[in-house]
Amino acid sequence: MRYGIFFAQDELVNLYNVYKTDAKLKNYIIVWSFKLKTVLFIFLLLTVNNLNSQEGLDDALSDGIKTVVIDPGHGGKDPGCHGAITNEKKVVLEIGLKLGEYIKEKYPEIEVIYTRDTDVFVELDERAKIANENKADLFICIHANAAGASAHGAETYVLGLHRTESQQKVAERENDIIHFEENSEEKYKDFDLSPDAIIAKQLQLSVFLDQSINFASKVQSQFKSIGRYDRGVKQAGFLVLYKTTMPSVLIETGFLTNKKEENFLDDPVNQIKMANSIFKAFQEYKSEIEGVNMMVVDGKGFSEEIKEVEQKLDSNTVEEKKDQIYFKVQIETSKTKMKLTDTRFKGVYVTEYQQDGLFKYTSGIFESDLKSANKYKNVMRDKGFEHAFVVAFKNGKRIPMSEALKLVEK
Ligand SMILES: [Zn+2]
Repeated sequence: MRYGIFFAQDELVNLYNVYKTDAKLKNYIIVWSFKLKTVLFIFLLLTVNNLNSQEGLDDALSDGIKTVVIDPGHGGKDPGCHGAITNEKKVVLEIGLKLGEYIKEKYPEIEVIYTRDTDVFVELDERAKIANENKADLFICIHANAAGASAHGAETYVLGLHRTESQQKVAERENDIIHFEENSEEKYKDFDLSPDAIIAKQLQLSVFLDQSINFASKVQSQFKSIGRYDRGVKQAGFLVLYKTTMPSVLIETGFLTNKKEENFLDDPVNQIKMANSIFKAFQEYKSEIEGVNMMVVDGKGFSEEIKEVEQKLDSNTVEEKKDQIYFKVQIETSKTKMKLTDTRFKGVYVTEYQQDGLFKYTSGIFESDLKSANKYKNVMRDKGFEHAFVVAFKNGKRIPMSEALKLVEK
């Protein structure tokens, strides 16, 4: 042992002497020790990184879904995009609230958090913060789209590099809401949306990106199954997705700038259908993540709720109270009496009244509720009754709209 140490000392002294005198060897040693250090450093970095992402993946996979954050876009002073009869903040709030209800009903153990559940303005970075601070397992942003009058269909985005100008435009429009915010320049200075930064971000979040794309494709195929035109899963640089640290998607439910799609999205029945589609995609995703084979079913209240809304829209059997104002939707006028089962009514339940020697046919009845009557008018126009309009009744007689509005206001 002693000998060994002495030997080693001698060897070291020897080596040191050579090292001092031989410049070539000195360089050689310096270069190699540097190389060795670099290799060691990279090895350590990879190990730590690998551990981290492996942990993140294990976390995401083994714990399943405990918390979902639903983010209805826009709100308050920011209406989002709009068509002729409604705007984005209203439509997406209705769909978002319904989606949350379905998840809570079916999975009471899951915590559902909304970034907003009323008509209020919430800043973009605040939305991401809500998802991060609550350690959400899934972040679902719901929006509606705007483009030319013929653009139609639904698409779902994950964070990434846009591939077309139109994808970039969608992200730009959705990011643009920061001009409603104070100090936005200061707040978003860390958000680098350059291609390099987005690729780096994608790599950093690659564990979640696969899951985001997985959920996004399920949403799209559910939309397709209810007859929506499928614009596919896309990528673009959305600020709201930039800082979230969980699988995150941004759903563009349809184009409010397209008359037909606006009518569709404004209709409460279709809002329920859209929410139910996202809910079914959620169920599929959840069962996959958790490795459980689960039957995907409608939201618990789905069919009942649709029936209820349809009944409300379609009911003609309300017993009219004395002096109460009722709104109905007139869909047809004829010089001759028509059968209520006439095919021209397309199966819609109608009632008849006579005025000025003409036979007039209405559908739906809404007690003092002009808003619902207007919605129903759009449903009727969508059905092909292009000239449908709202009329007012009191004590079984049609009265002028101006008079009805005054009476309703009282
Ligand atoms: Zn939006």
